[in-house]
Amino acid sequence: MVAEQIRARGVADPRVLDAMSRVPRHLFIPEKDRGEAYEDRPVAIGFGQTISQPYIVGFMTESLQIEPSHRVLEIGTGCGYQTAVLAELSRDVYSIERIDALATVARRTLEALGYTNVHMRTGDGHAGWPEEAPYDRILGAAAAASLPPALVEQLVEGGILVIPVGTSDQQLQVLRKRGDTTQLLSSLPVRFVPMIREE
Ligand code: SAH
Repeated sequence: MVAEQIRARGVADPRVLDAMSRVPRHLFIPEKDRGEAYEDRPVAIGFGQTISQPYIVGFMTESLQIEPSHRVLEIGTGCGYQTAVLAELSRDVYSIERIDALATVARRTLEALGYTNVHMRTGDGHAGWPEEAPYDRILGAAAAASLPPALVEQLVEGGILVIPVGTSDQQLQVLRKRGDTTQLLSSLPVRFVPMIREE
């Protein structure tokens, strides 16, 4: 998977490739679908949600340029696979998921694999996790209709945020925080599940 789908498409950061080689992706996928774990596409994880395509995980992770000292916020834990990749590379990962049942399974998998630097909570990620802010890096794993202001607020100056933005037409935006604004570093057409707004 790492050689053919990720390195071959241009993800070159050895730390990202090593991290993705270490994380057993199949253990994050419901047992009946584990045969599909290393395929070149998203896989259903229940509740109408999917684990992102491996290449997209590699691309998003590389875009963040994570350092070992970094604290990272993730919106949309899902099955916890991306969370584990982030946890391999950073000091602490704070991850928010709105579906309790998914969060429970993800927590169990991450604990079984021995990750002690992952902190999880259930709720609406549009608001971020202000109590633990600021974050050096932020990753959105569900598409926001527009860039959530709270996420930019909770990023350190110079910090990087990667997030799909849009509804029917989505762009995976890589942004750097510069004062009160953000600078667009790159943009890629994608299709993610929507980031649901809680009433
Ligand atoms: N990286 C995850 C991707 C899961 S799909 C994985 O590899 O499994 C996106 C996830 O975002 C879903 O689990 C969905 O429930 C969650 N989500 C959607 N809207 C959300 C919101 N407002 N706050 C937090 N999580 C949200």
